[in-house]
Amino acid sequence: MQVIVLGGGLMGTSTAFFLARRGVKVRLIERGYIGTGATVASFGNIRRTGRNLNQLPLAARSLALWNQSQELLGRDVEFRATGHLRLIFDAEARSDMQTFAEAARPWGFDIDQLEPAEIQRRFPGLGPSAIAASFSPRDGSANPRLVSPAFADAAAHHGAEIFSQAGVPEIRKTEAGFDVTTAQGRFSADILVNCAGGWGPAIAEQFDEPVPLAIRGPQMGVTEPLPHRILPVVGMWARDGGAYLRQVERGNVVFGGGVPQVDVPEGGFAHYDPAGLTRQLTKLVRLCPALADTTIIRHWSGTEGYVSDKLPIMGASGTTAGLFHAFGFCGHGFQLGPGVGDTMAELIATGASETPIDYMSITRFSA
Ligand SMILES: Cc1cc2nc3c(=O)[nH]c(=O)nc-3n(C[C@H](O)[C@H](O)[C@H](O)COP(=O)(O)OP(=O)(O)OC[C@H]3O[C@@H](n4cnc5c(N)ncnc54)[C@H](O)[C@@H]3O)c2cc1C
Repeated sequence: MQVIVLGGGLMGTSTAFFLARRGVKVRLIERGYIGTGATVASFGNIRRTGRNLNQLPLAARSLALWNQSQELLGRDVEFRATGHLRLIFDAEARSDMQTFAEAARPWGFDIDQLEPAEIQRRFPGLGPSAIAASFSPRDGSANPRLVSPAFADAAAHHGAEIFSQAGVPEIRKTEAGFDVTTAQGRFSADILVNCAGGWGPAIAEQFDEPVPLAIRGPQMGVTEPLPHRILPVVGMWARDGGAYLRQVERGNVVFGGGVPQVDVPEGGFAHYDPAGLTRQLTKLVRLCPALADTTIIRHWSGTEGYVSDKLPIMGASGTTAGLFHAFGFCGHGFQLGPGVGDTMAELIATGASETPIDYMSITRFSA
């Protein structure tokens, strides 16, 4: 079996890695540089709290792999299970948290529910006006800049061939499979995997599988380095997603959310819109008042694909034998990345996956 994976973000590199580890011949083709799409821009949150319940088995598979990332990849991608604290500031958010906690328990995911005294004792300085919080001790974060190159290098170590700066490939369906012509050469394969992130629909459309996906950019920023005091990833229960932050070991506080993602014009780049800055910072200071006097040193955004029903596309094509998709991760793909790669490799190599993914099939849009 010869596989071509299109797209060198977290999904493409992890799929290539897990395929190569199973002994499958795989070529990864990235039109630009490895890991420079949505993945590099990510906040790096590895959270299960608040997730679509159907996704919890995949998220659990992924978390197990994040815990093994050092051994799997042969390097530290800064995965730290520091815990995920989600603060609550009003009754509506408390009720949402309780509903989620109850619904998630049968799926094997249990979150701690904290009252204000417990928040102040365990996390001094965080959310002093919070009326409650959830805490998930095994979740955490990793470094979005390190992870795709680490998966690509580890895939190469297991025999995968990695081609970057390949331009947008021309794809032709053949009787035997697929011919893919790139700036780095022409390749054939019997399996093609579409891991092109927000650009995935352009490939799917070539095979008569349109997907309602909008490209948008979450709004991110980072402070100057400060003494390292904040251990968990901190967010808030809020129907608009709320703001979130984490402090990296070097001291900078990375933050995001609190404002809607910005629309990205077709063919354009995601940008940070300073019009939302005051709103974003007001929410951030609610999470950690000590941040009121810090300097923001950088803002950015990233191009992420949001499918209309807020679920990614994952699994076999509904129109074309040998074609598979894993794209459009709707702002929550970083946590899932290793699990997506492992599940896609299992599906391609064995014809089935232990982890249920049917609810993410592209065929849900075929009607
Ligand atoms: C600002 C921001 C913050 C985020 N924060 C979080 C978070 O905290 N937690 C979380 O779980 N998720 C988060 N996400 C979402 C997460 O980062 C993404 O879902 C995930 O990284 C998507 O990975 P990907 O490989 O599908 O896409 P990408 O990383 O975008 O990779 C796709 C790659 O495909 C390449 N490509 C495109 N077209 C072609 C083609 N025709 N041929 C070959 N290559 C092609 C692109 O150049 C790109 O490198 C965030 C996203 C953004 C943008």
